[in-house]
Amino acid sequence: MSIRAKVFTIIFILFASLGVADFFVQRFVVYPSFLELENHEAGQNLQRIFHAIDRENYHLERIGRDWATWDDTHDFMTTGSEVYKKSNLYDEALDSIAVNVMIFCAQDGSIFWSNARDTVQETGINLELLQSGSIPLDHPLINLPAEENGTVGVINTEHGPLLFATRRILRSDGTGPANGFLIVGRIVSPAMVETLAEQTRIAFDIVYPYVDENMICGKSGVTAASIDNLRYFTVDDGKFVKVCSAYLDPSGTPIFGIQYLFPREITQKGIASIRYAMVLVISSGLIVLIMLNVLLQAVILRPLQQLTTHAARLRHEEDYTQRLDLRRDDEVGALADSFDNMVQTIRERSEELKRANEQLTLLSMRDGLTGISNRRMFDDRLKQEWRRAMRDKTAISIILGDVDFFKNYNDAHGHLQGDQCLIAVAAVLQQQMQRPADLVARFGGEEFAVILADTDAEGARHVAESLRQSVLELHLEHGLSEAASFVTMSFGVASIIPQPEDGDGGMAELLRRADLAMYQAKRLGRDRVVVWSGDQPDPSIP
Ligand code: GH3
Ligand code: MG
Ligand code: MG
Repeated sequence: MSIRAKVFTIIFILFASLGVADFFVQRFVVYPSFLELENHEAGQNLQRIFHAIDRENYHLERIGRDWATWDDTHDFMTTGSEVYKKSNLYDEALDSIAVNVMIFCAQDGSIFWSNARDTVQETGINLELLQSGSIPLDHPLINLPAEENGTVGVINTEHGPLLFATRRILRSDGTGPANGFLIVGRIVSPAMVETLAEQTRIAFDIVYPYVDENMICGKSGVTAASIDNLRYFTVDDGKFVKVCSAYLDPSGTPIFGIQYLFPREITQKGIASIRYAMVLVISSGLIVLIMLNVLLQAVILRPLQQLTTHAARLRHEEDYTQRLDLRRDDEVGALADSFDNMVQTIRERSEELKRANEQLTLLSMRDGLTGISNRRMFDDRLKQEWRRAMRDKTAISIILGDVDFFKNYNDAHGHLQGDQCLIAVAAVLQQQMQRPADLVARFGGEEFAVILADTDAEGARHVAESLRQSVLELHLEHGLSEAASFVTMSFGVASIIPQPEDGDGGMAELLRRADLAMYQAKRLGRDRVVVWSGDQPDPSIP
């Protein structure tokens, strides 16, 4: 896995976990707490609606009290005075105080006077309650405890829920005996709901008659809550909280339902700000990624790539003179410098090694005493020249030379002098080599061998002759030679045009012939050249 992939994976995991954590916090902490907050606020709103309805009742109670605690009303219940009726109980009077229902009834419940009106349309309405001419004594309208002078409440009517206030009819100073009941009522009409909605600034509506199933909260996913004594239900509908409650009559029976959709503004604003934060996190993550990518590329990846490419090229081309020269003052720069220095060390070491190797090769090909090529060099060169001759179909010649009576020389002049003699002979032999391809080598002991490429037997004989001559002309005194008074050499020459069928044995055969020729020269008296011809070495007398 590349560095970039690793870094990106780590950062991706980091931001992904941030995102997941954010989601969980939003889903399981923020969202429920917002919901709770909103449920509570929805309950408070509901309480305001209930308070507004209660205020209606309170007004009714004030109106009822004004009318019922009045000598004129008390008298009216006895006299049925027309004057009272005319001056007080006319339709417009009811309409002006927005009272839909006004009932004067006697202590036994019989209706003494009543009126029911639509105060908006300003028309009379029929009310079933009034049809029988009396109200049963156990009816909530007039069923008030003996010690109480009045009550408020709500009852069902065919025109809607009726908020009512009932007062015992007393004298103006509040004393009895009570002369019946005065009931004033207001129907909870759409108009009233509208007014209350305006007052409370809560767009609620009512469900009448109250049926559980008709409420927007329904049955599923309902959360029950209460504020003070007000019980209500909420359902989370995403954008809204559905809020429902029932308005109860004094006996606790639901008369009408109140419901409204509470917009979840807190949640929406909260979620919006969380989303905003998330977008910020994601975009800052992206920016970090992009910046990191650029930084990684510039600071680490590109120089590392350069280093890798450079190393690969060095290995491929084996040219250790190339430097990377990154010229950076950071850690990668230091690495590149170390690398360059290492390469330079390798270069120096390999050059030293090369020189040492060349030296070694040279040494291994040279004879220690005389400094001319040794037997190994001779063998190598012979193989080369043999192949070339075979390819070119040219002649190759070998001359083997041996110092005459060298044992005696050592005996006469000492071994050290013998060595000097060999050095001098080698040098003079070497001097006689005319062509670059010609090679003279110390063949072993006091024997020397010459390879002459592209040279036939006749040419080789000439060369051997000149070699013999040059050794003789050194005039190295030899006290115990039976051939001459100076150091002399005997030479055997063999020549051949190598044939493929000869194989490697051909070379050995050529050497054997040269050797045989050389021994023939010894037998014939030394200090001479014998060329191998046919089966018999051909003595060539100097
Ligand atoms: P011939 O004419 O038949 O070649 O007689 P010879 O004495 O040269 O031949 P022989 O093979 O009997 O002796 C060779 C001698 O060469 C023996 C050895 O001591 C001597 N010799 C061989 N290598 C060296 C060397 O490196 N230094 C010296 N000083 N003497 C050597
Ligand atoms: Mg010998
Ligand atoms: Mg010898």
